[in-house]
Amino acid sequence: MLGRADNSLTSSFLSGVGKTMAATDEVYLGYTTDEATTPFLRDFLDALAEGTLMKSVCTECGREYLPPREHCQDDLSKCELEEFEEREAKLYSYTIVDFAPETLSSKAPYVVGIGEFPSGLRLTAHITNLMSVPEIGMDMKLAFDEVDERLVTYKWLV
Ligand SMILES: [Zn+2]
Repeated sequence: MLGRADNSLTSSFLSGVGKTMAATDEVYLGYTTDEATTPFLRDFLDALAEGTLMKSVCTECGREYLPPREHCQDDLSKCELEEFEEREAKLYSYTIVDFAPETLSSKAPYVVGIGEFPSGLRLTAHITNLMSVPEIGMDMKLAFDEVDERLVTYKWLV
């Protein structure tokens, strides 16, 4: 969480905002189709490549998962993919990533937010167009990006 009176963190964050604002220097949280190690994940990625986000629903208890899980964590039953159509969410929580994984280290600091949809499902993605410090509860919209033909990603716009 952003410190209440931590000016060094705030200024560090704001410099990162400038970075993520540049259209040519966006931060991506994405999946490449090469990462499809199971038919279930392949179906999810194929749909994402078409701009369709899939949730999964447990065939036994009906619990929903986003991003989808192949098996329910409550009863280990098989889950099935279903289209997830909600796009509007509220910021539930966020973090500022100063120490990024190697592939994203040149992008840091950047902001990752958890959005909560009206259904209660939550999704983690980068917040890519921040102009100021994020506020819990603010409105966000989910958007998709085709980074290249093998990498499709989703992100939050505020
Ligand atoms: Zn279940």
